[in-house]
Parts: sequence; structure tokens; C-alpha cells
Amino acid sequence: MNMRTKRYSTISLLALLLLSSCATGNGVDSEQGIKSEHFVIYAKEERPATIEKITYLLETKYAEIRAYFDMEIPVTKVYIYKNQREFQRQKYGFIADVLKLDWYIGDNIKDSVYLTSPDTNVKGHSYDGIINAVQHEFVHTVIYRINPKCKLWMNEGVALYFSNRDNDKSLLKKTNIPKLKIFETKNPIYFADNGGYQFADKFTEFFLKEYGKERLVKMIKAKKYSEISGINDVDLYDNWKNYLVKNYDN
Ligand SMILES: [Zn+2]
Repeated sequence: MNMRTKRYSTISLLALLLLSSCATGNGVDSEQGIKSEHFVIYAKEERPATIEKITYLLETKYAEIRAYFDMEIPVTKVYIYKNQREFQRQKYGFIADVLKLDWYIGDNIKDSVYLTSPDTNVKGHSYDGIINAVQHEFVHTVIYRINPKCKLWMNEGVALYFSNRDNDKSLLKKTNIPKLKIFETKNPIYFADNGGYQFADKFTEFFLKEYGKERLVKMIKAKKYSEISGINDVDLYDNWKNYLVKNYDN
């Protein structure tokens, strides 16, 4: 999910969780799929230039991710909705209409990508901001294929590392480092409100430098990080904090 500009309440989330079973089908005519080599894009009334750009972004990211993880990635379905409301109803049903989820423009549901049309007017989001989210959501579908139960911390960390990176070397001057609890949280509100989206990719970056790619893939699959890192989470967290101080406090 892409929600770095989120503003919402705990009540909203509870409502979403309670009512998520109201979600409808994908709502886009399946016969109108536009195929590229590794994607099928379903979109109504989308400008050809936008479809072309989305296809380019997806195929480019596909090549990078396919090579990086050295894994087969089956054809990915991508659904584009003509406005934010229609997009939001896909996962959360009509309850999304009454919630003010301005930040929420893209998501993955299992191994499919869902996106608001970049051509629509969305408060606080530019055309480029929306269209670039498609790569981030695609990376989430790949993580889903590696481990459908990947922890939020690794899921967002890896997705952010490979897309939409915010590489602010002065980050620590502006934002507090998340507490250890963020490693295990399943609560997207806690995650978003406690620096999850600013810091998760920096953990992926640190982990890669310290442990390498093979163990990063194991971390995506891990139930306990300590089984992969070989140290307890407190020590892992402290090592990461030291890395942040060295690299993100400029
Ligand atoms: Zn995400």
C-alpha cells in the first residue's frame, strides 16, 4: 500500500477491517485487458499515453525485479480505476466512500495491482506521483508471491527499497527512529504514524549491506528475524540504529 501522505483515524481502520468483506469484484471489464509481455492492464477510459507509460514502468520494474530475485513471475493483472472512489471500493466496499482516505491511491490485492487513474484529480497527488506508485504495488505482488504472510516491516521495506525511495540523508534531523516494536507490528496506522514509511527501506538497505541478498530473501520469508540474522532483535535493532546514525544524520 502506498500511504505516505496518510491522515486517518483508528476508527477508520476498524471500520475498514470490519467491513472489508463488503468489497466487490474488480469492477473492470475483463475483456478489455491490454496485454504486454508480463502484464495485463484492465482499464476503462484510460488515455493511451497513460497506458503506454504504465506499461513501460511495469515492464522496466519487472526486468529489474526478475533479475534481482532470480525467480519466475507469472503475468500480473493490473486494474486501473477511473477515480479514487472506485479504486477504494475494490478492497473496502462502499464504506470507503464515507472515510476520508485521500492518501490511498494504490494497493495490491494478493498478486494483482490496483491503482487510481493517474489522469484523475486526486487531492495531494500529482499525475507522476500516482503513476509511479504502480511500480511500488507491483513489488508488493512479488513479495506476496515469495511469502503471502510477509511481515509489514519487511514487506514495505523491500517495496520501498525498490521503488519510491526517499533517500534523505538528513532524515534523523527531522524524524525519530521508529521503536523496536515496528519490526513486528501488523497495525498499518501504528506503522504509518511511527516512521514506518520513512525508515523501512533503510532497514532493507542496512540488512543487505550487512547480510547480503540471499539472507534478505530469507527475511521476507522469516517468521523470526533472529533465525536469519543470528542475533536477537534488540541487537539487530541497535546495529541498524548505529547504521542510521552513521548514514542519515547529515
Ligand atoms: Zn507499500
